[in-house]
Amino acid sequence: MFQEVLVRFSGFGKEEDEWINVRKHVRPRSLPCESSECVAVLAGDLILCFQEGKEQALYFDAHVLDAQRRRHDVRGCRCRFLVRYDHDQSEEIMTLRKVCRRPETDYRLHQLHAVNDAAPADHQKISLDHPAIVHGTRVTNSSEMVQKQQ
Ligand SMILES: [Zn+2]
Repeated sequence: MFQEVLVRFSGFGKEEDEWINVRKHVRPRSLPCESSECVAVLAGDLILCFQEGKEQALYFDAHVLDAQRRRHDVRGCRCRFLVRYDHDQSEEIMTLRKVCRRPETDYRLHQLHAVNDAAPADHQKISLDHPAIVHGTRVTNSSEMVQKQQ
């Protein structure tokens, strides 16, 4: 079954309305990161990243190539993330502030909290990438739009 919805892109007029396939082109909204949530952003992740161009500044899909952890100070996260934008393959070093993570990465935070709350850390190994412990759900009927394809 093809589930299509008519959408209006923010910043565009009625004449730019488009029918889009919900299953393919809509996904849950990405989440801005709190300072303590940089631990949930890992190399290889799909993220939404704020790119400031000459004419426009927009959020685009990007992938994390590398995460450089730094000690946090009073203002919070000082980590740096090397990202590559999916649409133009350009690379940029970003702060956490300009990064939105996918809600599917929530489990990593839950996991870290669980480990911190639970007993001695010395025989607990955190393996964030183990697929067996991924229990995020993929929901595709919420409100995030992918960028408008020209
Ligand atoms: Zn950080």
